[in-house]
Amino acid sequence: MQCPEAGKPIIKFNHCQKYIYSFGVPRCCPLCGQDVGSRRLEEAPVSISEPFTNGHRETCSFLLRPTRGTFLREYDGRSDLHVGISSTGGVVYNYTVHGVQRDEVGWEQSVSVPLLRPGLFGLLDQWDKYLEDFSATGAWLPHRYEEGHHNCYSYALAFINCVLATAGEERLHRDEFTEKFVVPRTRRASKYITLYRAIEERGFYVTDPPSPQWAHTGGGSC
Ligand SMILES: [Zn+2]
Repeated sequence: MQCPEAGKPIIKFNHCQKYIYSFGVPRCCPLCGQDVGSRRLEEAPVSISEPFTNGHRETCSFLLRPTRGTFLREYDGRSDLHVGISSTGGVVYNYTVHGVQRDEVGWEQSVSVPLLRPGLFGLLDQWDKYLEDFSATGAWLPHRYEEGHHNCYSYALAFINCVLATAGEERLHRDEFTEKFVVPRTRRASKYITLYRAIEERGFYVTDPPSPQWAHTGGGSC
């Protein structure tokens, strides 16, 4: 079942020696107008996996979404982002100017970083209790909130470090966490958003296949 926030699935297929992306496979190739029905196996369409997941179904994860709106519709690359941590039951804990929020809706289109990697699975049973106890400490009262220094990100990272400390692991610095876990995923999300919007605008999007493949299938020489 698809939730209302979900975008249309993107398909990639091969025609006219190009990669063509669209929402579903069209009957005719948008470049040459020929039927794309009878194709060879290597031209079979593949679906492009979405970089977003429903945060309420991602247990024990670090989640990221635009503060307002959704990635696919409103995000422009500079919009403010909001982050949170999900419980084992899909409740998303996040810190705002109003204190710690426990959201049961609103994170349906999130970028997610799973936190329970091997070595930390033992914490699963205690996860919700840790999250609740951590959120109840005075550090996360509404009046302590500061846009630049004591915000949703500080809250999420402090929780992650609290969990790591409990597991006897080294704490992560903010930049390290961002570079290692967040940036690769947001970069992928940005590419996907660009592709998605291009298809929405023109109906399809075309790229050249990577060059090594050209060398084998292109046939032409220069
Ligand atoms: Zn074609």
